Amino acid sequence: MSNRDSTFGIHTTAIHAGESPDPVTGALVPPLHLATTYHLGTAENSAAIFAGEKDAFIYTRWGNPTVATFERKVAALEHADAALATASGMAAISSALFTIVKAGDHIVSANAIYPSTYHLMVTQFGSLGIDTTFVDATDPANVQAAIRPNTKLVYLETPGNPLLTLCDLEAIAVIARAAGVTTICDNTFATPVNQRPLDHGIDVVIHSATKYFCGHGDAVGGVVAGGKAFVERCLTEPLRYFGGIMAPFTAYLMLRGTATLPLRVERHNANALRLAQWLEQHSAIARVSYPGLPSHPQHALAKRQMTSGFGGMVCFELKGGVEAGARLMNAVRVCSLAVSLGDTRSLITHPASTTHSVVSREARLAQGVTDGLVRLSVGLEDVEDLVDDLDAGLG
Ligand code: PLP
Repeated sequence: MSNRDSTFGIHTTAIHAGESPDPVTGALVPPLHLATTYHLGTAENSAAIFAGEKDAFIYTRWGNPTVATFERKVAALEHADAALATASGMAAISSALFTIVKAGDHIVSANAIYPSTYHLMVTQFGSLGIDTTFVDATDPANVQAAIRPNTKLVYLETPGNPLLTLCDLEAIAVIARAAGVTTICDNTFATPVNQRPLDHGIDVVIHSATKYFCGHGDAVGGVVAGGKAFVERCLTEPLRYFGGIMAPFTAYLMLRGTATLPLRVERHNANALRLAQWLEQHSAIARVSYPGLPSHPQHALAKRQMTSGFGGMVCFELKGGVEAGARLMNAVRVCSLAVSLGDTRSLITHPASTTHSVVSREARLAQGVTDGLVRLSVGLEDVEDLVDDLDAGLG
């Protein structure tokens, strides 16, 4: 049975998929295999393994049993044929991109993406002779218009940074497929609990597993999921040689986190929706962006595409601008002033007074980072404690 046809629910899949009791000890928890190298048996057996006639672990950079268990679980959750775990979300993105584009190729990317992905495309890929056109992908027509004869990749992130805008995955997948172009979607914000891009026709999904898969803010990792042939190429071409593999101990932590992913995401969804609704009524707030609010310009698309919930990320604009943002950051006691997302703890950032304070105001505004913009990764705390915490800071 393929992962797409699985009849198990998402909680059962998160707990059981990809696992089986250890054949030697019967251990139910997948063992942590730290070995870097594996016994190849006889010369004949070794020759068969290297000839690809026999499946076996050889060397951990080429594959590891603990990492492979995590990969099978993610593939099941994303309805993918296969998955590949990496050292970080950026390692997943760079490996997936290097599998597709070569010098002289062209990428069409959504402009609302994680800033390091933007920099990767502009600086690293740019210096290799790979051009990227950034478009407002909230309108699929902009993607269509940017496709050139040498376009090899359409890159999307939905919901995207910084304002939680959405891309219509199905419409863009149809456009790209007609042009013979591969599509990738960064599904970090939504998680497979809320959205499965492959079910909407997207070819490849990537994640920063550092976020919701890990879920506890204590491991960095990434994952690429898609068709078997693509994942195999991604492993045997860029990943194996650039070397950005996931460490076995990280995979062990990821497996532990992933078992509760659907449970945690349900609560992230519920807490975020409640906070977004409350913030929208608050007199200190100019605007709230959350795909689950009817005021979100793409709420109808969100309901169609994000089938279980709208995620744990909320953005809002403070009427009081930079000063109000700094005041809120200093006042919060339950939320932590910290980057990243998907943690049990609520994490809050005010880019204008923190991450973007070194960027000119004009450049910052051009990126959609306004003076009073606050980004909140809503955690798993009691939501009324979060309401009280923010209320005190919004004064
Ligand atoms: N994609 C998104 C949407 C992210 O938010 C991040 C990191 O914040 C990344 C990718 C990169 O992930 P990592 O930090 O694990 O390399």
